[in-house]
Amino acid sequence: MLEDRYCPHCGAKLESWLGPPESGWGEILVCNNNECSFYRNSQKDIHFKDEDNSLGCRYAENPDNGYSSFNLLSYYK
Ligand SMILES: [Zn+2]
Repeated sequence: MLEDRYCPHCGAKLESWLGPPESGWGEILVCNNNECSFYRNSQKDIHFKDEDNSLGCRYAENPDNGYSSFNLLSYYK
């Protein structure tokens, strides 16, 4: 059972998500808030995207690694 964790950027509760098998992650916690400032700001930092294929970074934590935070690359919808 995972702890309840909250995004430090927007305060939304992080949702558990099972990483793809090839990623080597187990269950991770992700901020799925599309209004999250971290997510919004990440949009500006990604230069290789084209207009039809927008990527952003969501705030995520890895419970297997002491809840260390990392950037989860995801498609921007
Ligand atoms: Zn957030």
